[in-house]
Amino acid sequence: MPALIDLSSDTATRPSPGMRAFMAQAPVGDEQRQEDPTVNALQERVAALLGKEAALYVPSATMANEIAVKVHTRPGDEVILDRTAHIVNAEAGGPALLSGVMLYTLAGERGVFTAQQVEEAIRRDDPHCPRTRLVCVEQTSNLGGGTVWPLERLRAVAGVARRRGLRTHMDGARLMNAVVASGIPAEEQAQGYDSVTFCLTKGLGCPVGALVAGDREFIAEARRYKHLFGGAMRQAGIIAAAGLYALDHNVARLAEDHANAKVLARGLAEVPGVHIDAAHVETNLVFFDVAGTGLTAQDVAARLLARGVRIGAAGRTLMRAVTHLDVSRADVERAVAVVHEVLTAARAGAPGE
Ligand SMILES: *Cc1c(COP(=O)(O)O)cnc(C)c1O
Repeated sequence: MPALIDLSSDTATRPSPGMRAFMAQAPVGDEQRQEDPTVNALQERVAALLGKEAALYVPSATMANEIAVKVHTRPGDEVILDRTAHIVNAEAGGPALLSGVMLYTLAGERGVFTAQQVEEAIRRDDPHCPRTRLVCVEQTSNLGGGTVWPLERLRAVAGVARRRGLRTHMDGARLMNAVVASGIPAEEQAQGYDSVTFCLTKGLGCPVGALVAGDREFIAEARRYKHLFGGAMRQAGIIAAAGLYALDHNVARLAEDHANAKVLARGLAEVPGVHIDAAHVETNLVFFDVAGTGLTAQDVAARLLARGVRIGAAGRTLMRAVTHLDVSRADVERAVAVVHEVLTAARAGAPGE
């Protein structure tokens, strides 16, 4: 049986031989004392990339987001963000538990909302109401389908927030996918946002790590909560080196993942019973619905896995496939063929068809 084609997530990547070799010879020191030269170099590099004064290396993008929410808010405050946001759906209730904040979710379009929606969601200054404090955007939007926020929209949302005295956070876990897809530098996209989360373990292919960036005052506070949340490390340069390597080798190639995602989407669109909005596949995330096959997403996932293709269920009949650096064009073509065979067989075997 051929090797598994793992389209379940861009977190499925393994560190390449080149990345491992680079990690193995990284100079290290005590990260908690800010004496790890490799961590320091990575922090400076990402801060410059994002156009911020400073950046802080943390174990995960989840921790980066939760630290940002914690620094920007006080208990009882309200945070405005899209209903699909990772912070809302995939961080274990962290904003409630760690920061004691309310979340006010907007119904954006594929994860992207408007400045007017923000304007309308801001609470009046009234002792009955929670205090609106923070607006978060997600670039690209994960559950929105890898959607790229247009620059004007990012600016408009940051503009309303600034005028109304709110803080702003960008969950840029997949920001480099947006950079490669749009051609707009990260720094420009992050402009006007007080803090930015940057993830190394998605398309960039590192085994661990993320950063949160902002001004020096923000980072000083963030460092305190990183420690409190248990994220302060020791000789972390050994893993941070992967980030430096990824920034040199794994950014431009994200374009291949995007091209492969389009091939995958167009292929899936041809499969009977599959519904997919192929025109909206902008980066490396491909959501599709299998309701038309009469099977659940979990059922389809199990049948595909038995044939060596791993694609995750994202809902009862919704599936999510993700392209990344360990998936080639040939793998994608093979995956489409397997989906075709499996779902055609399922339809043939379905009662009443
Ligand atoms: C994956 C992801 C995260 C969390 O990343 P981890 O490093 O797995 O904690 C946060 N935000 C978005 C948009 C993501 O896609």
